[in-house]
Amino acid sequence: MGEFELIARHFARPVRAARLGVGDDCALIAPPAGCELAVSVDMLVSGRHFFADVDPEALGHKALAVNLSDLAAMGAQPAWCTLALALPAADDAWLAAFARGFFALADAHGVELVGGDTTRGPLTISIQIAGYVPAGGGLLRSSAQAGDDIWVSGVLGAAAAGVAQRSEGLALSGAQQVRCRQRLERPEPRIALGLALRDVAHSALDLSDGIAGDMGHIAGRSGLAARIDVDALPLDPVIADLPQALDFALAGGDEYELCFTASPAQRERILAIAAGLALPLTRVGQMEAGSGVRLERQGAPYCSPRHAFDHFA
Ligand code: ADP
Ligand code: MG
Repeated sequence: MGEFELIARHFARPVRAARLGVGDDCALIAPPAGCELAVSVDMLVSGRHFFADVDPEALGHKALAVNLSDLAAMGAQPAWCTLALALPAADDAWLAAFARGFFALADAHGVELVGGDTTRGPLTISIQIAGYVPAGGGLLRSSAQAGDDIWVSGVLGAAAAGVAQRSEGLALSGAQQVRCRQRLERPEPRIALGLALRDVAHSALDLSDGIAGDMGHIAGRSGLAARIDVDALPLDPVIADLPQALDFALAGGDEYELCFTASPAQRERILAIAAGLALPLTRVGQMEAGSGVRLERQGAPYCSPRHAFDHFA
């Protein structure tokens, strides 16, 4: 199977919203009037972001999910993406499974694959994604306000426990393994939540490196401090009994939940959004004057033995 046959067989599909998709030198897309493009790119490298033996269907899902999660955190409506693939070999069964996972999630969120690049090399997947936000309406990291509540979606800690099982030999029961793998390999991007928060939240980001580190980005960009009450963190029930549960929730990456700040006047509205989406939304702290992230436990500073992931630390 040659390069062009591979693309035609696995990645070329009839165009939908785009004017021109896979097959020409560029794709052509007409953005809706009054909208800004929200654009992001992520790279997943074998052995670094995923285990080389991961199920290719799950990998197709996750590669797109992490990009969709960035759009969710911006309050953007997903629109299109491009896919750059480096493959050690043209393995037809592997590609078919990867494409199945990828397109199932793409279709669920109305994302159109409009182009890409395919080359031989160590397994690496890079997806560029674009969505639309009403002009001036994106959920920025820089616009948190002093006195804002800090909220987090979902429950935390299971993805990090799944990583620790693989990389540190953490012992997990059968039921724990199932849930932790599901959370690690099949994150559900919180697109509907991001859209619902457009007129409600002041700032937002998605949790990819752990809330303790990630909230530092909102704090830094907004010129404020983030105080997090670690006892309020919503622990995933499946790992809540582990002694490290709190630290997995604080510093575990790969959660892809949203963390956002909003005025206390919005509490009822936010709880109504949670009920409407059947997704827990939990208040875990407050933005205040100062800088950095302050972890508190029963009013005293809390020092986590784990740190947010940093590729070059
Ligand atoms: P170019 O030489 O202009 O980079 P290519 O020969 O690499 O073009 O690709 C041919 C067409 O196939 C282009 O339209 C490109 O966007 C598309 N394409 C290549 N790889 C992929 C992929 N993995 N997924 C989707 N489209 C792809
Ligand atoms: Mg090319």
